[in-house]
Amino acid sequence: MKYATILVFGLLLSVILLTEKKQQEKKQKQKKLELKKAELCTEAKCKLPDCRCSGVVLPKQKFKGKEQEIPQIVTVTFDDAVNAVNYAQYELLFEGLVNPDNCSAAATFFLSHEYTDYVRVNALYNEGHEIALHSVTHGDGTDYWREANVSTIEQEFGDQLTILEAFAKVDPKSVHGMRLPFLQISGNNTFQAAKNLGLTYDSSWPTQQHTNPPMWPYTLDYLSSQDCQIGPCPTASFPGMWVDPMVTWTDTEGYKCSMFDACVYPPEDNVDVLFEWMLENFNRHYKGNRAPFGIYLHAAWFARGANHFAALKKFLNHLTTMPDVYLTSISRMLEYVRNPSLGKPFKSCEEKPKSTCEPFSCNVQKLSTGEERYMSVCDKCPEVYPWLGNPLGKHQ
Ligand SMILES: [Zn+2]
Repeated sequence: MKYATILVFGLLLSVILLTEKKQQEKKQKQKKLELKKAELCTEAKCKLPDCRCSGVVLPKQKFKGKEQEIPQIVTVTFDDAVNAVNYAQYELLFEGLVNPDNCSAAATFFLSHEYTDYVRVNALYNEGHEIALHSVTHGDGTDYWREANVSTIEQEFGDQLTILEAFAKVDPKSVHGMRLPFLQISGNNTFQAAKNLGLTYDSSWPTQQHTNPPMWPYTLDYLSSQDCQIGPCPTASFPGMWVDPMVTWTDTEGYKCSMFDACVYPPEDNVDVLFEWMLENFNRHYKGNRAPFGIYLHAAWFARGANHFAALKKFLNHLTTMPDVYLTSISRMLEYVRNPSLGKPFKSCEEKPKSTCEPFSCNVQKLSTGEERYMSVCDKCPEVYPWLGNPLGKHQ
């Protein structure tokens, strides 16, 4: 009798376990099935404001012949940590820069966590700059990001979002975009993670082929025609997810560079030479189809030569004297791409957030290495240095 009872219980248990396993497999299958293979894009199927084919070279077909009336949008982006030194440079760079519509010029900051000064991030945010995501750890190298699965990417960028909300008082609803460290995407995983996090764009994907005419931002509803320089690139459909392609620059020898510091043959360290080089790259957009012009750099580039900062300052100053050039954030630029017009791109200035921040200086331990980390935050120090899996820095 005893054995029979055990046998019955054993059988029951295995039936329950099997059903659970089956259900789990079913769930995983469903998750995989959710990824629909992207089909070829046609303008009949894919319409603004939420869908845009990658191969379309003008914001609207009827703008053909009126290219010179399309507003030229310029997006300046900085990657990595914001600290006291580069914050002072950003302040100087954007000081007094006003667009033709009298709205202040703005940049986009892709923030990674380590060494970031969150009090300064709060200041940039309140000045109207866009705060976007560049991961918590920045990873060990390209392998980490190329092989990252959806949950790793989601945690790296989701935890950074949590850190920004808690310590820089940035409203998570105002955070829309991401850039992968080393520009290393991992195919569909990157965009699935972006979607899960509620982000609306990625700006990690450089193009070397579509620079003349330069590529406009597009959505991943349908298959992308962009050249895949740092694969794997996505193959599935992600409706409404925008790609802001990093249209590469051309260096002095004709080689392409996605970011300033990646140019193999950069111009010599002279304000006028650097300025002319920037203007030449800009004119490919301005005298062409007016696709948004991206200036992609790290603050470290300023240290490459005594005249680098002055050259960029001169160039941005020059741009703001032009009646149809607008320096703005990527997310604001995408608003225009969704609803394009000739002439003025925006109806009104963007309202600046008024996010209060009581600055605190904290000395906290980074648990993974035992090192002390100095950290500037708003309102309250964490107990330990925030990190992946512990973005609020709680004692564990
Ligand atoms: Zn970086």
